[in-house]
Amino acid sequence: MKRLTLMTLALALVAGAFTLTAGDAAAQGKKQFIAIGTGGPTGVYFVTGNAICRSVHRAAAEGRKSGRKHGIRCSAPSTGGSTYNINNIMAGDLEFGVAQSDWQFHAYNGSSKYEGKAVKKLRAVFSVHPEPIQIIVGKGVNINGWGDLKGKKVNIGNPGSGQRGTADFLIKESGWDKDKDFKLAAELTSTEQSKALCDGKIDAFFYTVGVPNAGVSVATDGCGAKIANFNGSLAKSMVTKDRPYYAWATIPKGTYKTTSSDVTTWGVKATFVTSADVPEDVVYEVTRAVFENFEEFKKLHPAFKNLDPKTMIKDGLSAPLHKGAAKYYKEKGWM
Ligand code: GLU
Repeated sequence: MKRLTLMTLALALVAGAFTLTAGDAAAQGKKQFIAIGTGGPTGVYFVTGNAICRSVHRAAAEGRKSGRKHGIRCSAPSTGGSTYNINNIMAGDLEFGVAQSDWQFHAYNGSSKYEGKAVKKLRAVFSVHPEPIQIIVGKGVNINGWGDLKGKKVNIGNPGSGQRGTADFLIKESGWDKDKDFKLAAELTSTEQSKALCDGKIDAFFYTVGVPNAGVSVATDGCGAKIANFNGSLAKSMVTKDRPYYAWATIPKGTYKTTSSDVTTWGVKATFVTSADVPEDVVYEVTRAVFENFEEFKKLHPAFKNLDPKTMIKDGLSAPLHKGAAKYYKEKGWM
């Protein structure tokens, strides 16, 4: 219900955006509405999108005082996740979105799920926090890595989420069939999966998400779930030079109540993307707002703690930078 309400609001805002002419409306201080696609309400994408909106509104308020105006109004509704966001940016229903670095790569290059459907208008703005791939295992269930998921009740994620795309990819790479090789391949959202794990309806869930986060802690701190290592042969065959969108990751000891030692896994980066059709001045103002308020931005989620503009403007980005973002990075001397 909450999601529906937010989507309706977002659609109303987006519809509003189309009544304005593109171009330099933002720079002239004219009202312009943008919507940022995020993920489930307990994930980090939802915070990311809303932190970006907060920076945009703060820049607008500061601009009103100093005479440097922009008129952008921003909303960041909860959505299905990475590929939902990319597809809806391309459909013109969202201006921006958060998406995993692997899905930015596949969408732009027309590989994996995007084979024959390359999204050539996709543009990168910056990357955000790392998102380790996590296999979260219910208390007392004997699963110690990817291979042990075979024959179990596993949540592989809702269609449209980045984790679902990555799970489908790994299932294929393993030569498995989701309908035959699991006792159950559930398609729950990130909000539903922790409760299902705590209730014993599933043995484990597969989730690609920033650390720490509220959704995972419901399962770990709430009902004793553990995060398995994911560092065997499949992981080793994935983190290679020709897949720059993957990297090794550690979830440090003490992150959650049940993380009694470091967890070794691998994963992707969250990235902030848009379309080449979104006007340069809009992307410039949004980018500027985030980096001019960067210390404030970093405080809005613990997963943002180690963010550094120098790496954010290149790591995990495979689509070209949007002109509006590149303009700001050049002004700052970062490019
Ligand atoms: N990585 C997930 C996705 O692409 C979202 C994680 C989050 O909500 O923070 O759908």
